[in-house]
Amino acid sequence: MPTRLFHAHGEFCATHPWELIMATLTLTTCMLTVEHQHLAPPPKPPPRDCAGCLYEAEYNAADVIVMTLIRCLAVLYSYYQFRILHRMGSKYILGIAGLFTVFSSFIFTSALVNFLQIEIPDLKDTLFFFLLLIDLSKAGKLAQFALSGSNQEVKSNIARGMSLLGPAMTLDTIVETLVIGVGTMSGVHRLEVLSYIACLSVIVNYVIFMTFYPACLSLILELSRITTTCDKNSVKRYLISATLTEEDQKSNPVVQRVKLIMSAGLVIVHIHSRWSFQENAINGNGQFDVKEISMNRTEDIVLRNYIMRWVTLSTDHIVVLMLLLALVAKFVLFDNKQELSEELHLQMVQENLRRNSMRNSFSDTTSYFHSCKFLLEEQDGDEEKQYEDKEIQTMAIPESTCNSEEDTTVKPARNLDECLKIYESQLGASELTDEEVILLVKHKHIPIHQLEKAVDNPERGVKIRRKIVGTLGNFSAAVENVPYRNYDYSKVMGACCENVIGYIPVPVGIVGPLHLDGRLVYVPMATTEGCLVASTNRGSRALLKHGITSRVVADGMTRGPVVRFPSVDEASEALAWIETPENFLLIKESFDSSSRFAKLKKIHVRMAARYLFVRFVATTGDAMGMNMLSKGTELSLKMVQNYFPNMQILSLSGNFCTDKKPAAVNWIEGRGKYVVCEAIVPSHIVTSILKTNVHALVDVNISKNMIGSAVAGSIGGFNAHAANLVTAIYIATGQDPAQNVVSSNCMTIMEPWGNHGEDLYISCTMPSIEIGTVGGGTVLPAQSSCLEVLGVKGPHSSCPGENANRLARIVCGTVLAGELSLMAALTAGHLVESHLKHNRSTVCLPNNVNSKAGGQ
Ligand code: NAP
Repeated sequence: MPTRLFHAHGEFCATHPWELIMATLTLTTCMLTVEHQHLAPPPKPPPRDCAGCLYEAEYNAADVIVMTLIRCLAVLYSYYQFRILHRMGSKYILGIAGLFTVFSSFIFTSALVNFLQIEIPDLKDTLFFFLLLIDLSKAGKLAQFALSGSNQEVKSNIARGMSLLGPAMTLDTIVETLVIGVGTMSGVHRLEVLSYIACLSVIVNYVIFMTFYPACLSLILELSRITTTCDKNSVKRYLISATLTEEDQKSNPVVQRVKLIMSAGLVIVHIHSRWSFQENAINGNGQFDVKEISMNRTEDIVLRNYIMRWVTLSTDHIVVLMLLLALVAKFVLFDNKQELSEELHLQMVQENLRRNSMRNSFSDTTSYFHSCKFLLEEQDGDEEKQYEDKEIQTMAIPESTCNSEEDTTVKPARNLDECLKIYESQLGASELTDEEVILLVKHKHIPIHQLEKAVDNPERGVKIRRKIVGTLGNFSAAVENVPYRNYDYSKVMGACCENVIGYIPVPVGIVGPLHLDGRLVYVPMATTEGCLVASTNRGSRALLKHGITSRVVADGMTRGPVVRFPSVDEASEALAWIETPENFLLIKESFDSSSRFAKLKKIHVRMAARYLFVRFVATTGDAMGMNMLSKGTELSLKMVQNYFPNMQILSLSGNFCTDKKPAAVNWIEGRGKYVVCEAIVPSHIVTSILKTNVHALVDVNISKNMIGSAVAGSIGGFNAHAANLVTAIYIATGQDPAQNVVSSNCMTIMEPWGNHGEDLYISCTMPSIEIGTVGGGTVLPAQSSCLEVLGVKGPHSSCPGENANRLARIVCGTVLAGELSLMAALTAGHLVESHLKHNRSTVCLPNNVNSKAGGQ
């Protein structure tokens, strides 16, 4: 009920900003300019025998100590508020919100003080009180709420923010007023006066926060919506770093209850003391003694005192000044440095990514992408479609290279014979225009898949191929949007891809720091699934304090050829021969001779009728090893054939490997790296970061990852979404992405931990991570720079295999973080909400198309 009330109130403020602002300003102006003599003066204290006594009292020791303490507190509190605001992420909007609240509440309180004719004994102390009473974080949070959705939703966001912040704010105000009210009974004169003013200030702040502030917020954002472009808005919103969830903003019910109890107690204290106070205070003349607090002195004296006090530097001033300086020094020298070092670390990671992907460039941030446009030369009118290279993938390239490979002169087209003669001469294809090369391709003098070699320039080869395929069917539009420039195709040719027409840029996000085996790592993940990186980040944040421990417990890549014999008899004879230890050594010798790094560990043979399925298991150093295994297996089988000439090698891969297909053999026997990792998550982190509790998490894990997967007949799928993390890391680090099928085999186990089962034990077991840091796509610059970020680029310098092992452990650790976060989201029922928020494109999809809510 109160929530709905505050929601309606917030909605009213947001929808009637002008009215509210004008009403508040008018009221304030009236109060500031009100003629005091026409109003009934407030009760004045009876004249004192000695006017100077009061001043003396003001400066007694207790007074000075109390006031110094309050000033120090105010400074410390302001510093604390500043740090909160600083951490909120936006230096602008939240800062403005904070300043606005300070400023406006100061003005409004001053107006009220003026209206009530309360004399302020010391202006600077009042200022300290203001600092002490203002809660900047609430203003910041409301601003965050207002900015958290789309700009169209500002009003409803404000209403939602009010409904969530309002009740807590109201309770806080009551508690604050009552607590500060105690100060009015302190007996320290100046403190009493200031406590009255402070109470007023708290109430004014509350009223301002509930009316004027949301109205202004609504108005400012509404105006900025009109004047700002869609892009700028999204950038602005991006400045608010923390994603606010309602859960984040809900007040802790225990704290709320404590505040209520406290309020009740304080009310009783106030009633009791006021009652007795009144009895004591009302003197024989029926005059109210509280008037003692305002002194009857002339304007001149007051003014002189103000000036004197502002310029006199007494002990308390020195204390406050020293505190202030110490805090500034602390922030500049330590706090800021710590934050900066974290930022710098991330920047260094990004810089590494950037530097290493200078040439091929689809690594990390868009800030480095230059806007150099490349227009292909117009040729043959309608015949050729001219493709404009997209800006997204290019780096700042010197102007000279921008046009170096373009045909800048329009030459008359030569006929086929002439072109062929030039091509076959020493001049080669570099003397031909693109169109002349295309002519040769059309007449089959140059195979289209060999264009790069034919023109002796990989990028030009790709460009000409794009021109050719661009004329086919629907290809033109597609090719136009596939970038191709500034990519080091020499690393692709003969290794990674054929018939290249460009490349697909995939966004790369970074997760971390992930605390793994005592080290902090930042994990690059290439994905187009919104939420994935954010969610994994949350998981790694929950694991940051205690970290993850991982072990590679087995290692062995496999290749399982199928061979056939004339009969079961001969097949069984061969089976027995292979399994004999001495013969295994013969086979191993042959296998190991194929590579410096591949070492045969064992052979696992299965017989079916007259067929043998021979699973070779070998360590492969830092390479994933599939090619190495194929090479070694082929050599070994040839050697076995010497002993069994009737053995027919049907296929080097007989699916007993098993590569890129779900199979129980990998789950049971393992393939690649067998990795296990574990972590302990304390209960308070489960509650605060993961927004759930240990019991519920364990319960859902058993129901979903164990029972659910068993019901589904799963093999190796006893997890929530290991494939998500595996694939994103695989794409970023140049692994064979199709191997996510087997590599994602994972069992996630959760158990209550600790004496009373209050903490969470979580582990991931991944027996078949097929991974490497050399070979395949790991040689491509962007991918290899991601490996560098992880500290596992290329072969290990002293211990071959160590880099691949470490990468496998990082994959398993990241899976654990991802599992933890997603399971928590499922347990807390946040999955659909977060996916709808972060995983739905609102850019170009019609409303009725989008129905995805996540696929875990
Ligand atoms: P690879 O690039 O074919 O072989 C690794 C090469 O790196 C070998 O020449 C090896 O030397 C050398 N090397 C240098 N330092 C090394 C070290 N520290 N550890 C290990 N090797 C080192 O890589 P691969 O992992 O065997 O094969 C990966 C490729 O196979 C990927 O492109 C993947 O897509 C593809 N693939 C192939 C199959 C298949 O059936 N053939 C199946 C799936 C995937 P040596 O010459 O001395 O061994």
